[in-house]
Amino acid sequence: MPAVWSGDPLWLADVLRAAGLDVRELPGWRDRGHGDFADIRGVMVHHTGSDGATAESIARGRPDLPGPLSALHIARSGAVTVVAAGVSWHAGEGSYPWLPVNGANRHMIGIECANSGTSPSAPHRTHWPDAQYVALVRSCAAICRRLGRSADRVIGHKEYAGRAQGKWDPGAIDMDILRRDVADDRGVPEPPDDDYSDILLKRGSRGPQVAELQRRLKAAYASYAGNLVVDGVFGPDTEAAVREFQRRTPGLVVDGIVGPATAWALRLRVVSARA
Ligand SMILES: [Zn+2]
Repeated sequence: MPAVWSGDPLWLADVLRAAGLDVRELPGWRDRGHGDFADIRGVMVHHTGSDGATAESIARGRPDLPGPLSALHIARSGAVTVVAAGVSWHAGEGSYPWLPVNGANRHMIGIECANSGTSPSAPHRTHWPDAQYVALVRSCAAICRRLGRSADRVIGHKEYAGRAQGKWDPGAIDMDILRRDVADDRGVPEPPDDDYSDILLKRGSRGPQVAELQRRLKAAYASYAGNLVVDGVFGPDTEAAVREFQRRTPGLVVDGIVGPATAWALRLRVVSARA
């Protein structure tokens, strides 16, 4: 799908990252989809049906339903992976007051959460790790802000397709409580726990902390760091990726050096402090 129509949410990764989320970009997401979006009206929340379902499996789809199956995947760790910018096949048959009957896919950003759903009658947040639930709330809030819509535009698959298809996802999520939490979310990034005061990585640095930096860049910034080799050596490619990250992040000096401010902005995991 050539993403030629400006309606496609090519802003997803940037908007979610600006909300402080742990964002990964599945390579090729900008060009993945079943055609282009029409006007985007909101967000539809799903559970995958299994705790271990991966972002790759959402991109791939199933034998009876080719992927992508949703724009975003949220793991139980809270990691949010951007899977597709084009239309995903997630809604199927159903209806909702401000959506066309059996035609929601071109109007709704789908979020698949890796979760068994437990059961249709399970109390709110049963078997939903805090990290995953908070990431869901924050993702919905960031998207609604970007769309200029209120939290009312977050609906569950069960609210759209419950009658038509017997869908009950997202299981163990009371959608009214979720919408209230989305409305309350101020989207302020929480500072990471790591202590960055001793961090200084630059051209010529070596070791496990450089490897962690490379892993982080590669996973979270695949659009320009996806080809980075994780070898623990801070060479020209690593420096170029750091400079690109700094260029794209307001408030950072573009010097190719990872000090405390850049490490904080990267949510870099500290692995070799005072070893
Ligand atoms: Zn669903």
